[in-house]
Amino acid sequence: MKYIFVTGGVVSSLGKGVVTSSLGALLRARGHRVAAVKIDPYINLDAGTMRPYEHGEVFVTADGAETDLDLGNYERFMDIEVKRASNITTGQVYKSVIEKERAGEYLSQTVQVIPHITDEIKDRIRRVALEVQADICVIEVGGTVGDIESLPFLEAIRTMRFDEGYENTAYIHLTLAPTVSGGEVKTKPTQHSVSALRGVGITPDFVMVRSKTPLEDDVRRKIALFTSVDPESVFSSFDVEYLYEVPLALEAQGLGRAVEKRLKLEKIPPSLSFWHDAIKKLKDPAFEVNIAFVGKYVAMGDAYISILEAFRHAGIYHNSRVNINWVNAEELEPENVNAAFAGTDGILVGPGFGHRGIEGKILAAKYARENKIPYFGICLGLQIAVIEFARHQAKFEGANSTEFDEYSKHPVIGIMPEQLEVAGMGGTMRLGDWSMQIVPGTLLERVYGSKDVLERHRHRYEVNPAYVETLKEAGLVVSGVTKGKLERGAGLVEAIELADHPFFLGLQAHPEFKSRPMRPSPPFKAFVGAALEFKGIKTQLERNTESV
Ligand code: GLN
Repeated sequence: MKYIFVTGGVVSSLGKGVVTSSLGALLRARGHRVAAVKIDPYINLDAGTMRPYEHGEVFVTADGAETDLDLGNYERFMDIEVKRASNITTGQVYKSVIEKERAGEYLSQTVQVIPHITDEIKDRIRRVALEVQADICVIEVGGTVGDIESLPFLEAIRTMRFDEGYENTAYIHLTLAPTVSGGEVKTKPTQHSVSALRGVGITPDFVMVRSKTPLEDDVRRKIALFTSVDPESVFSSFDVEYLYEVPLALEAQGLGRAVEKRLKLEKIPPSLSFWHDAIKKLKDPAFEVNIAFVGKYVAMGDAYISILEAFRHAGIYHNSRVNINWVNAEELEPENVNAAFAGTDGILVGPGFGHRGIEGKILAAKYARENKIPYFGICLGLQIAVIEFARHQAKFEGANSTEFDEYSKHPVIGIMPEQLEVAGMGGTMRLGDWSMQIVPGTLLERVYGSKDVLERHRHRYEVNPAYVETLKEAGLVVSGVTKGKLERGAGLVEAIELADHPFFLGLQAHPEFKSRPMRPSPPFKAFVGAALEFKGIKTQLERNTESV
């Protein structure tokens, strides 16, 4: 097993996750089996309770872990599936060490950061790599070198070189080379950061420098000299238009080959044609389409990164630029709804928690239904569509979700009593993979091209079964239900649609989490396709009116 550790310095948010993911993509392009680990030095056990507009999206793994959004990048770039164990936090490490201590597993020794905490960290890293029988495991250490909380992790990875051997371990350190006024690129922060890393005993094999533009040769040589690595081991991670350009930018500088050499891996020519083709389509697409994203945390793209990426994947597939126009649900009113959706080819109501902006989202679903604009509702977006339909089509006045109105006369969305009773599900979230049975002959079946699908979930409230029959009679199509054992929620509504509408789809799941550049999520693909069609029809109509 080979281990590649990625650390960072100078400042946070340099794109360490993308560099790690891109490195993984280059290894995957050579046919290697790759495992990925993200270390988050915070005390939280997971990201589930963290604010998305501060920390970015909570990514959900197939096995139901709520993790850092970087794990989403790993899955997308490397086309692998990561599990709960791939996200290691300080909280988890200490929790299990303390539990072992209580259970007497340390045989009355004094339990200490070194070796007990560091051993636990190393065990956890190795377990991830072993479980997927990886050839290479890439480990991203969150935070920046010099942080107090990352010290035990740095100590753990430092000693892995001695446990695993020189040829099986490599360290990449990411720094920043800022450009000051006058255009000069400064190398001092990189020098300082590398010496801080040496200070904890780690000598980087590669220095990766984030900068605005590709590093000039003289700057590269200067960094090499001051950090004592050879110039070919200094890489430039410069600003690009699309994140998916990073693997190619690094490969062009020889990163893949350098890692092969350093870890004594067989030299394999990478297959990168997918990435080249994808970049071409992203930069110079044949078509363009406008999607209105109705949400709460507007202007905070990181809170919805998987959704935005899923649109990008669908865009690559359709050779189209997918423009996402944020519509703030809290400002949406009957008076401005027309203006808000002018030029819109598809309306998306995304996931969300809490009551803010709910009425605006309901208005958006109504507008899409009545004007036959393609509609895609994800999780909360399905619940919104059901509330809207219940109020205006099934005439359940005041219909709502008990999340927003505890005393609603018609709680069409709610927490199921059985859900509260079932052990392990008591009012908590339905998380991770759940399989859905698709009703034949529906739009959903055409979307997926199969009868059974697995998608990831992260929600608490369900469509209330007591209302399902009446809603169906009023014309709501339930096109997917939860599969599985009855006591585990079988038969719950997973998908809804409308028969007399070109594309109106609501999914209780979050299909964005499984979308990959090379394998776009089927509902996103279909929704963007429907939006393109909608635009085409509109153009056709405009032409007809012109000729009249
Ligand atoms: N708040 C809703 C629920 O808990 C929807 C959650 C979501 O959109 N992820 O069911």
